[in-house]
Amino acid sequence: MGLIYQKPGGDTFELKSGLLPGKMAEGKLIIFSAPSGSGKTTLVKHLLKHIPELSFSVSCTTRDKRKNEIDGKDYYFLTVDEFKQKIKNQEFIEYEEVYGGRYYGTLHTEIDRLWNAGKHVIFDIDVKGGLNLKKQFKERALAVFVSPPSLTELEKRLRERCTESEETLKMRLDKADKELSYAKDFDVVLVNENLEKAEIKAEKLVKSFLNLQ
Ligand code: 5GP
Repeated sequence: MGLIYQKPGGDTFELKSGLLPGKMAEGKLIIFSAPSGSGKTTLVKHLLKHIPELSFSVSCTTRDKRKNEIDGKDYYFLTVDEFKQKIKNQEFIEYEEVYGGRYYGTLHTEIDRLWNAGKHVIFDIDVKGGLNLKKQFKERALAVFVSPPSLTELEKRLRERCTESEETLKMRLDKADKELSYAKDFDVVLVNENLEKAEIKAEKLVKSFLNLQ
């Protein structure tokens, strides 16, 4: 039986059956995408802690390092010139200019590195990047859209996080508005209204896809 998840509008739907179960021997991709502030990073951290078969895909970015972030663990922090050189060398499997002038991208070598280590790879990535990976890897990837209960709640969470200026907060909210319209293109929509419940659902979902239950 498939797993039932709630769509943003309140409907429920079943995980597409072709995705279950996965082939054990093959490295898989678990893609978590969401508007910034929806809680996807917290969910991804929870999954990494509870599912040892997973490893995090460390992206490259040109944005400034935040307090507590570690280069090579949270991101590979690059200058715009370094990033553009990697684009030129076709080192990215996908990349986006996520916010004006700030680039984010996934290196081919990052996925290979983790698959070679016998891990399934989990991504915390923006909506366009997530759909791009899903298109390339198809049944080998599970694409999960984490939705906030509402845009008002999203704004509240972003303000509480205190990582944004008024200007970048507005950019993130404008982008979130557009991103919500892509939810239907993902394999699963997970509404993060209550973090604890969302963590349990996410764990069940990923374990089913990886055939770990
Ligand atoms: P933040 O600046 O809050 O760490 O991330 C901003 C957005 O960029 C988030 O939605 C995050 O998931 C996304 N992101 C992180 N890494 C990548 C990546 O490699 N590719 C793409 N397309 N987006 C990414």
